[in-house]
Amino acid sequence: MYSDQYNTIENPTSLPSSTYFQEYYLQDENRVQKLLDILFDPHQSLPEIIQKYLTILKSYLSGRQSFEGFCKELQKYDNSILCGCVWTNSTISYRCRTCAINPCMSLCSDCFYAGNHDKHDANMFRSIGGGVCDCGDIEVMNSNGFCKSHGPNRIPNESIPLKLIQSSQIILPRLLLIYYIVFFLVSITAECCICQSKDDQNPLGLVVRLSDSGVLGIREVSSTPDNYLPLSIDDNNKSSLNDPLICCQFNLKRNGKEYLSTEKQIEESNRTCAQFYEEKIRTMLEMFTEESVSESMTISWRTGIIITSCGHSMHLSCYKEYFKSHTKKTASENDPHIEFKCPMCRQKSNGLIYIPQIDTQIESNENLIETISNLIEKNIKICIFPLIAEWLTNFIEKIYLMVNKNYRTIDKQIKQPSDDILALFLTSILRFNLENDILIRDTPFIDSTIINRKSCFRELFYICNLKYPYLLNHSHILLWHRIATGHMNTKLNNNEQTVPLLLSDSVVLLLRIMLSLPYLITRELYRVIVQVLFNLTYIQALFTIISEMNKTEQEIWSRISVDKNKNNMSEYLRMISSKLFQSNFNSNIDNTKISSLESINALIRERCGNFIKIAALIQHYLYQSITWWIPDHHLHFDHLSKNLIKELKLYNNDEPYWFSNDSLLIINNWLDEVLTVDKQQSILKIIHAIPVFHSPQFIELPTCYSDLFRSCNHRRCSYCQELIIEPILCLICGIVYSQERT
Ligand SMILES: [Zn+2]
Ligand SMILES: [Zn+2]
Ligand SMILES: [Zn+2]
Ligand SMILES: [Zn+2]
Ligand SMILES: [Zn+2]
Ligand SMILES: [Zn+2]
Repeated sequence: MYSDQYNTIENPTSLPSSTYFQEYYLQDENRVQKLLDILFDPHQSLPEIIQKYLTILKSYLSGRQSFEGFCKELQKYDNSILCGCVWTNSTISYRCRTCAINPCMSLCSDCFYAGNHDKHDANMFRSIGGGVCDCGDIEVMNSNGFCKSHGPNRIPNESIPLKLIQSSQIILPRLLLIYYIVFFLVSITAECCICQSKDDQNPLGLVVRLSDSGVLGIREVSSTPDNYLPLSIDDNNKSSLNDPLICCQFNLKRNGKEYLSTEKQIEESNRTCAQFYEEKIRTMLEMFTEESVSESMTISWRTGIIITSCGHSMHLSCYKEYFKSHTKKTASENDPHIEFKCPMCRQKSNGLIYIPQIDTQIESNENLIETISNLIEKNIKICIFPLIAEWLTNFIEKIYLMVNKNYRTIDKQIKQPSDDILALFLTSILRFNLENDILIRDTPFIDSTIINRKSCFRELFYICNLKYPYLLNHSHILLWHRIATGHMNTKLNNNEQTVPLLLSDSVVLLLRIMLSLPYLITRELYRVIVQVLFNLTYIQALFTIISEMNKTEQEIWSRISVDKNKNNMSEYLRMISSKLFQSNFNSNIDNTKISSLESINALIRERCGNFIKIAALIQHYLYQSITWWIPDHHLHFDHLSKNLIKELKLYNNDEPYWFSNDSLLIINNWLDEVLTVDKQQSILKIIHAIPVFHSPQFIELPTCYSDLFRSCNHRRCSYCQELIIEPILCLICGIVYSQERT
C-alpha cells in the first residue's frame, strides 16, 4: 500500500531538511503523512529504518535546536512528582543526612542545588553503581528538602507548548506502528519461504495445521467430585462407567425416554456442552423441518477442526514439490493425516490454505439495510481460477473428512453431502474455530505453543465465502427480511415448520448472512448486520427470561407503567409479558420471588455475552488486519468486545438501536412466529439450552490404576467401534480411543 509512493523518492538524501520539514510538511496533515509513508516503508526492516534515518528523524523532532537542547527544553515542562533522574557509573550525586528518611537516598545535582539544604549534614559523592534521584519521594526523604519542581507540593510547570511537540505527536505513533508491522506482520506481507520470490501470478498459501478437537464439547464439570471419570469401577454399581448420564457416548441411547424431573435436573448439571446442544437439535428436529433446523443451528461440537498456522507461507506449486519430496511416495495431499514440517519453523503441519487477495469495493446507498438486502438478493458468485477453485474444494473436503463421520451432519444416516449439509458444515467449522478461540482467550493458563500459533479465521472465512453462494437457495433473502424488518414476505405458516427466529442461534444467523454476502463487505455494513442481530439476540434473551416466569409474574410485568417517550427495555418487557400471559405461555414453577428490573437487565447481558464476543472476534479478524497477529490474546480480547459494545452503543440506555421506526411490530412478528408453534414444553426446552462452552478441565483419575486398566479391557473405540488393542484415555473428556485413532 505504500510502495508506489516509495518509488517517487528512491534516494533518501533527497529527504527534506529539518527546517523545511517544520515549515512546509508539518503545515499540512496529508503532506506530512505521505512523507512518513516513504520514511516508514513497511518493506524495510526496523533496524534498517533506524540506521538510515535516525539523525534526520531526531532533527524532525527537535526542529531548529539540537536534539539535546530539545530534550532539555522538554524537561522544563515535566510535571511529574518525582525527579527520577537516572545516572550511571561515577557521576557526582548528593546525599543529605538531615533530610533523609532512608539513609540510601541520593539527589541529582540539579535537585540538590534547587532544594534547600543550607547548613544540612550533606555531602557530595561519586556513586559507584549508578543511582536514581529521590527528590519528590516522601518515603525516602523529608519534603522540606525537595526542590520546588518535585514533590506533592511542587509548583506545577506551565503546560507544554503545542508547537514544541507537534512533530513528535505525528512521528512517534508512526514509529510505533512500524515497529508493530515489522514484528507482527512480516509473515503476511510474506514471500514464499521456499523460493523466496514474490511472484504475484503464483498463488500463495499459509502453512496450516488442521487439528481434530473435541475440547469444546467437553464436560461441564459439576462440583460433585468423583463422578466424572467414566471408567472408575466402584461398589454399589454407582460407577460412572455404568451411569449413562455421566458419559457422553451413552447419551444417545436415552433419546426419547421420559425422566422424572429431579433425575432430569441431575442430568442437566452433569451434561457436557455438546450434549446440551445435541439435545437441543434433537428436540428441534421433532418440531421443524430438517432443512430449517440445519439453517438455524451449527453441529459438531464433539469433534471439529481447528485450523491454525505458524504464519509461514508458500506458493501452491512450491508446496506440491515440497510435499512430494518430504512425504511417502503414495501420500495424497488431500489426506489430512499426512503431516509434514513447515520448511521455516519445523512445526507440524498438514495443509496449505489459500491467502485471499481481495480488493472488492461494495457500492452502498443511503439505506444500509436495503444495500445488504440487494447484495444478498443478487447472490454474487465470484469467478475463481480453476487452479484455486480446485485448491479450495480440496481444502474443504479435507476438513470434511477429518471430522468424525457421525458428527458431520444433523442426520447421521446421510452419506453424501448435499448443498444444505455442506452449507451447515461450513458454518459449523467457522463457528467451531471462533468458539475455540474464545475458549483459549478465556483460559488463564494455557500452553504458550497454542498461543504462538495464529488463527486462520480470515482465510477460512474466505474459502467458505467463495463456496457458500453456490450452495444458497432463496431462503437467505427471506431470512434477512425477517430479521431486519420483521417482514414475513411469505407469511410463515405452521405447516411449513420453519424454525422461528426467537429459537434460532443468532451466531449462526450472523455467519449465514455474512457468508451469503460477497467477500469482504465494508465494516460499516458489517456493523449494521451485527446491530440487527444483536437486537434479535436481545429480544431472544428477554423472551427466554419472561417465558421462564410463572403466570403471576408475567401478569405483573404486563402491567408495568412505561414512559411513552422512551422505547426502552421496560416497554419490551411489558409487551412480551402481556403477550405470553395472554397465550398462557409460562413455566409453572411455584415462585413467589419477583425479579427486579436490574436483575433482568443483568440476565439479558449475560445471555447476549457470547454473541458479542463472537461478533467482536469476527470484526477483529476481518477488519483489523493490522493487529490480527498480536500474540497477546488475553489482554486483547476483553478489549475487543468492549470496543464493539462501545462502537455500536449496544448497551446504550439498555436499548437496542432499531433501523425501523416500528420496533414493536418487529418484535410482535417474531413472537407470533413462536406462539403459532403449539408445543410449549419443547419450546421451553430449546430456549433453555444455550450453548456456553467452558474451559477444559482434566478428569479425576482413580486411586487404583488397575481399575482403570481393567475397565479398558474389551472396550470398543467410541469412534470406530472396533475392539481396542492399545487404549488411550482422553484426560479431558474421559473417552477411550484406540491407538490408531490418534
Ligand atoms: Zn527535585
Ligand atoms: Zn533530581
Ligand atoms: Zn537536607
Ligand atoms: Zn515459492
Ligand atoms: Zn512455519
Ligand atoms: Zn476427549
